[in-house]
Amino acid sequence: MTDIVKAITGAKLIDGSGGKPVDDAVIVIKGDRFEKVGRGLDVPKGAEVVDAAGRTVLPGLIDSHLHLCSNGDPNIFSMLQYPMGMLQLFGYRNALNELEAGFTTVRDMGAPHGFALSLRQAVEAGVVRGPRIVAAGKVISMTGGHADFHLASGVSYTGMSRIADGVADCRKAAREQLRDGSDFVKICSSGGVMSPTDPVDTPQFTPEEIEAMVYEAACVGKTVASHSHGATGIKNAVLAGVKTIEHGSLIDDEAVKLMAQRGCFHVPTLVAGWNIVQHGKEAGIPAYAVDKAEEIAHEVRKNVMRSHRGGVKVAMGTDAGTPFNRHGGNAQEIIHLVDAGFTPMEAIVAATRTGSECIGLEKQVGTVEPGKLADLIVVEGDPLRDIKVLGDKANILLVLKGGVVEVNRGI
Ligand SMILES: [Zn+2]
Repeated sequence: MTDIVKAITGAKLIDGSGGKPVDDAVIVIKGDRFEKVGRGLDVPKGAEVVDAAGRTVLPGLIDSHLHLCSNGDPNIFSMLQYPMGMLQLFGYRNALNELEAGFTTVRDMGAPHGFALSLRQAVEAGVVRGPRIVAAGKVISMTGGHADFHLASGVSYTGMSRIADGVADCRKAAREQLRDGSDFVKICSSGGVMSPTDPVDTPQFTPEEIEAMVYEAACVGKTVASHSHGATGIKNAVLAGVKTIEHGSLIDDEAVKLMAQRGCFHVPTLVAGWNIVQHGKEAGIPAYAVDKAEEIAHEVRKNVMRSHRGGVKVAMGTDAGTPFNRHGGNAQEIIHLVDAGFTPMEAIVAATRTGSECIGLEKQVGTVEPGKLADLIVVEGDPLRDIKVLGDKANILLVLKGGVVEVNRGI
């Protein structure tokens, strides 16, 4: 395996760094890594050659926020009707859909029963095919917070979240996730759309509680990602040392400044709210979720540009698994970023290099450069001219993950 040499020739290369594309690029891959990348390089003797003339090569795409074991059903509580093992199997199928769409790395932001962690292990061990997975265990939420799945009937669904209150309990909750093998800790520091009784813009957890969870993660070299819509919840999280702000829908100038200063990432997930508003209550999405999504809909695009222009690093994430936000449709978010005001190149960087930094894999993936893992896609058409080509799987002709062909649509 390590001796196999492949070369991709003739394509236009967008390497993920944001630099000028390279025409007629040659990409030499040895084993699982890129060995040489540049224009007009010699193809090593005996290499397996893929002629990609007229096509575009990009790094394997990265989705920095999704939920592998959620299917995009209108109501999140539909997961209660399945035997637990089904949720694991859904995760496997959804992960394959990601790979088929050109996404070679994904970050799972919370799955029931540690299923994203077991999926990660299964992919790493070669038991199943799938993208590289960076995963949290359960989502940590306060009582009545975004991930407190407590129904009005009095029934609580505790498979997906760990409810914690007070500094000591938050500390313990973070330690539990880290013990279970989480790559990072996922918390909720503001209200959310898919939860019934917490207004989107209200803060959740005290600054001291968040600090305790950040401290525990940092002790083992890990970071915290915070679901935060409202400005106060965002600022509490940023000041407590959280690395990534998820959604960030109601971010204000003060929060932008803080995040830029501290190098925090913003993962806007535009497509999540868009799908909820488009499909609405008629499609079976709970009324409270539709009302909340509509309440913030007109702010989110403006605010992602507020972050972007203010120097905050924006990573692309879909929140796939939320209503009608299906796995495999991930590139829609790249298109939404362009609609919001990103250039196509900026949106691609958000889904490649910045994504890799956001999820802590910048040394391994995110750009096509010597030494990194050979994750790339060959695309029919030029996404710099028409970003929508990335949204149609038929255009993703070849998907390489670690030098291995995962998808080949006939190139
Ligand atoms: Zn999410």
